[in-house]
Amino acid sequence: MTTNDFLYNDLWNRVQKEIAATQIIEEGVLNDIYHHSKIVEMSENEILISSEYYVSFSIMKDHREMLELCFESLLGKRIPVALVYDEGFQNIPKNPSIINEFIKNYVDPNYVFSNFVVGRSNSLAHNASMTVASNLGLVYNPLFIYGNSGLGKTHLLCSIGNYVLDHFKTRKVGYISTLDFVEGVAKSIKDNTIDKFKETFNELDLLLVDDIQFLANKDKSLEIFFTIFNNLVNNKKQIVVSADRSPSDIKGLQDRIISRFNQGLTVSIEAPEYETSVNILKQKLSNNVSATQQVFDDDVISFIATNFSQDVRTLEGAINRLLFYSVQYPTYDNRIDIKLCTDAFKDQILENRNEMSIIAIRKVVCDYYNLTKQQIISKSRVKKITDARHIAMYLCRKKLDAPYEDIGMEFGKRDHSTVMSACKKVESLIKTDPLYLKAINEIEVHI
Ligand code: ADP
Ligand code: MG
Repeated sequence: MTTNDFLYNDLWNRVQKEIAATQIIEEGVLNDIYHHSKIVEMSENEILISSEYYVSFSIMKDHREMLELCFESLLGKRIPVALVYDEGFQNIPKNPSIINEFIKNYVDPNYVFSNFVVGRSNSLAHNASMTVASNLGLVYNPLFIYGNSGLGKTHLLCSIGNYVLDHFKTRKVGYISTLDFVEGVAKSIKDNTIDKFKETFNELDLLLVDDIQFLANKDKSLEIFFTIFNNLVNNKKQIVVSADRSPSDIKGLQDRIISRFNQGLTVSIEAPEYETSVNILKQKLSNNVSATQQVFDDDVISFIATNFSQDVRTLEGAINRLLFYSVQYPTYDNRIDIKLCTDAFKDQILENRNEMSIIAIRKVVCDYYNLTKQQIISKSRVKKITDARHIAMYLCRKKLDAPYEDIGMEFGKRDHSTVMSACKKVESLIKTDPLYLKAINEIEVHI
């Protein structure tokens, strides 16, 4: 018997005494029912009780509320109780995510919180995901995560799923991409199995729906989704949704669905800022078998972080390209230095020079002022934000001689006259305000 078994037995005996003391259940009956049960696992989030007889199990299910109260009086904390029927006390295996004729994919086990690098650009989404994972259905429901492609939405959705599968053995988790959902609706209408389709989802404790923007204008799927959504949320079951833009920016979603989404919590993920990109690159390199044979110079990491951090998928692509290139043109000491790196990316950098560099300058200015991309391109007239926006536009003009139209595009689709007047304003302020000039000089050092 392990120490845990000993503690669990002791606690379970004390719980039964508490129940006996309430005199709600006659002691003889209580012994009969509870004799065939035990605590098999306990965490901050769940107490799992297993019963080896089906009859005892079905009676004990009705005692759940009372059990939670008894545990609370002994432990000083309310912890949800889960009951399972486990004939002859076989070991309860980890519950896999649901997969069936409608839900085609498992939660990807490779996407977990422990390999998600957290930085300013994604910390809000990461925190909300962790909170939801450990408080299913109780805090933010639904949780809506949005951001451009390649920024880690699917990674976070699956991390929530994997956390729940690891920590709450009895909870049912389903992951579905919206395209599979739409296809599932069409097929089950055709096969006359739409009720079965809906029931599959209603069984879940956690539903993860990826890329919900694809529901736009799909009226039948929207209707089915709305029913499933309401049913789950009303029963305090958790829903987590991802999209490439915010709920109100998805054209072709009905207002009733948007307002449902807004009842929960909406968080965005931004492109990784420089430090986060460096941390992600280091993590990816340390996990890549072929990369561990190579030595990466720091300025190579810095080069990739500066030029390819519009999203994490692009960062990963840049590493792969570099590794591939280094195999084709090996150096004698397996070093990947800046020369090899610039050779590997020569074509790509030239192709995207203007656009990439405007984005790079915008990013340096955002980092300097501690702003997000959304803030700098927004219509906000807050002084810190307009100053940053004007300076970034001015620097794009000065450093790259980029056309006003191109600069305007990367700053919330502003027209060329807006960019022109921002540049003029900065030029005149530089002459009159030494602090302003100092800020610009400091930013220029980082570009
Ligand atoms: P999205 O669903 O937003 O398009 P993904 O979740 O598919 O993006 O992420 C793209 C790739 O980048 C995946 O390989 C993912 O593991 C990786 N990734 C994204 N964000 C991070 C992060 N913060 N830390 C580590 N890897 C990340
Ligand atoms: Mg995705």
